[in-house]
Parts: sequence; C-alpha cells; structure tokens
Amino acid sequence: LIKGPEVLETTRRVDTIVLDKTGTVTTGRMTLLDVHTADHTDETDALRLAGALEHSSEHPIAQAVATGAAERTTAPLPTPEDFTNIPGLGVQGIVEGHAVLVGREQLLAQWEIHLPAELARRKAEAEAAGRTAITVAWDGQARAVLEVADAIKDTSAEAVAGLRALGLRPVLLTGDNRAVADAVARAVGIDEVHAEVLPEEKAHVIERLRAEGRSVAMVGDGVNDAAALATADLGLAMGTGTDAAIEASDLTLVRGDLKVAADAIRLSRRTLATIRGNLFWAFGYNVAALPLAAFGLLNPMIAGAAMAFSSVFVVTNSLRLRAFT
Ligand code: AMP
Repeated sequence: LIKGPEVLETTRRVDTIVLDKTGTVTTGRMTLLDVHTADHTDETDALRLAGALEHSSEHPIAQAVATGAAERTTAPLPTPEDFTNIPGLGVQGIVEGHAVLVGREQLLAQWEIHLPAELARRKAEAEAAGRTAITVAWDGQARAVLEVADAIKDTSAEAVAGLRALGLRPVLLTGDNRAVADAVARAVGIDEVHAEVLPEEKAHVIERLRAEGRSVAMVGDGVNDAAALATADLGLAMGTGTDAAIEASDLTLVRGDLKVAADAIRLSRRTLATIRGNLFWAFGYNVAALPLAAFGLLNPMIAGAAMAFSSVFVVTNSLRLRAFT
C-alpha cells in the first residue's frame, strides 16, 4: 500500500536500507531452537519436565520452552504438582514426582547444583552465538541446556540478497546487545550493524546516515520504530506491525515477509519507469505532430486516430505492469 505518488520517486533514489531486527528480520517471538542433554539423560524427559513447568509461567522464554516441548514430544505435557515462579531466575516445582528447576545457572547454583563440563561448554557456545541458554535440573542434577532465541524468519536471508541486488546497502538496527545483533546479521548477510540503540535513538541513527549523504529507506514494525520510519527518506512498515509504524510509513507491506520489501521497491521503480515511458511517447507524439498539423501537413482524420492511438499506447504500456511477479 503506497501513500502517494512521491513515494515512487523516492524508491528510485534510496541507496541504503535500514532493517529493524525484532519483528522484521526475526519473528519477534522467542523460540526453542536446540536442546543439549547431559550423559544418560533422555531429551524427551528433559523436554517433558521443563515444558510442563514452563507451561505455568507467562515469561516469553517459558512460553518458548513449553511450546517447543509440546511440538517435539508426542505425549501431552504433564501437569506440575507444585509450581513457583522466581522472578529474574526461572521456575521451580514438582513434576511427576521430580523436583525440577528451569532457568538461569544461578538458580541451580542456589541448590548447589553445577553444570557438567559438556553442558557448560554448550551454554557458553549458545551465549556466544547470541542465544539465551536455559538450564534444566531435576532430582539434584543438572540435566540439560535449552537454547532459546528470537528466530530469524526463513525468508530474511533471501530478502537481504534481493535488496542488495537492487543496489541497496543493508544495515541492521536493534536495541539488543551486540552478540545477538552480530549473530543475526551474520546469518542473513548484513555487515553494517547498529546494536544497543535505545528506542528514541533509532531516528538519530537514520539522521546520521542521511547526513553522510545516503538516501535511506527503513523497514520496521514496532511503536519504537515509528520516529525512525518518519525520519527516513522512505519508510516501509510491516503490515503485521503496529498501527503507529504503519501510520508513520510511506509504504506498508501487506505481508510480514521482508522479501515483499524488495518486491515493493522493484515494483515502485518499474511503475515510475512506465510513467516516464508514457510521458516520453505522449509528448514525443505531440512535439512531432503539432508542427505538422500547424503547417497543414497532417490530415485531421489521421491526427484524430493518432491521438486515440496515443491513449491506447499509454494504457497498454501501463498494463504491462500486471505481468510483474
Ligand atoms: P527476566 O528478568 O524476566 O528477563 O529474566 C532474566 C533471566 O532469567 C532470563 O533471561 C532467563 O535466563 C531467566 N528466566 C526468567 N524466567 C524464566 C523462566 N520462566 N524460564 C526460564 N528462564 C527464566
């Protein structure tokens, strides 16, 4: 959905595209990505017990673990006999007669439970890759490490390649920490990253890029992105995003898929080229035919037919846009 004709002009000029990370490049939802178990621990047991406990918590990480556990195991998750939420640390409770802890390593440490070397290594690796590592223990032993992260949308890498093919330089913008930002940027093929940017500073980043002489498009979805979208030369909002973002943008992508951003820019540029082609031929006609008519060298019948043909040409030329894929 394009707000006005000037948007078409802008799509031709932009050379940089700033992508907000959460909700644009990633799904914006925490997802269980990987499970590592200690020796002699069954992955299904770890998922069942952790999932059952987390099912009672509303924390985004807990929802990710509960949903992931339900998806990866066949039997329905058991109901905990006891459940306590420990804010900032995790959850503890009793599931199928086992005393279960799920959360940060500090939570386990409070019970003098320590991670075996293999799980500690997995946890460190996950954190280096910008993921959140959740530890699981039951009956006094650390049993598993769960990797949770805001998952990257399947189409994001392809979308970034598509934007590059249009001559745009992609830039990742996020309030998240550098490790997370770099991991996402690497996965989708972006090399310029602005991380740890406070919501009110997002617009300043756009201003700085513009001050460098770049013409900047921005894709975002959140309330936090609205000022940046309005500051950019071209603001694109994800249709799945907030009303504030959609209101502040020049162009709304009806689907929540970043590939549509590249398509929208390509279609806008093609539309502009068609408009210019139409103008050129319509003017060309008149520039050639008016002097001829003025000097009496043009039969009015032919002039009338030519005039009608010029309209047919413009419409036919424009209809070619329907073949756009
Ligand atoms: P919070 O302050 O709620 O963001 O929690 C801080 C950290 O505690 C999180 O990053 C997790 O590592 C851990 N945590 C908190 N609640 C839970 C939970 N329900 N399940 C697992 N980990 C949790």
